[in-house]
Amino acid sequence: MASRSADIVACPDCDLVQRIPPLPPRGSARCPRCGRPLGADKPGSLDRTLALAVAALILLFLANVEPLMGLSAAGRETSTTILGGARTMWLQGEKVAAVLVALAVVVAPALEICFLLAILLAARRPPAPRWVGTLLRWTEISGVWSMLEVMLLGILVALVKIASLATVEPGIGFFAVGALVFLLAAISATFDPGEVWARVRWANGDGPWPPEGSGRTEAQR
Ligand SMILES: [Zn+2]
Repeated sequence: MASRSADIVACPDCDLVQRIPPLPPRGSARCPRCGRPLGADKPGSLDRTLALAVAALILLFLANVEPLMGLSAAGRETSTTILGGARTMWLQGEKVAAVLVALAVVVAPALEICFLLAILLAARRPPAPRWVGTLLRWTEISGVWSMLEVMLLGILVALVKIASLATVEPGIGFFAVGALVFLLAAISATFDPGEVWARVRWANGDGPWPPEGSGRTEAQR
């Protein structure tokens, strides 16, 4: 995490303290010492991210209430949701795995999306309250724990392995998880945390930065 004061940022990789110049439209800035991208001008980043985050919330809801997959073998059928799978693991004694699944596939993505929505809604009218900065840091932590793509890969492997033993039908939840993986990737490509940081009102009384109307964008990751 880079630290900032006005337009000064420290490179998160090599700690070189530097000033980011005004960026041209769709321009980007790199650290002169190590080449790490320090910022990019992404016009309309917050609005686009908000739209993606709302879509992600709807998909996350669908992924959790709709069946992930259905199995039928020897005339018997069954289907399960994500939490239903975690519950079965718990009941079978795999308590650590059950908690990890619930954390990485349900809790962390839900927190990530909800934090992001709160941040984007609060940042629409600068100056944003200081808790927005705290939420931005929490979003990074929950993003690290969000592992929907790992679960998706696991399901695909399982589908291939049990295909010869039973008829497996992917449910709506499965497709929702698949779409969610792509949406979360699109969100991280679109979201410009620097634009939010620039709108946060700081404890020392700094107003939103850059001053409104200057048209300047600074990214600080
Ligand atoms: Zn650097």
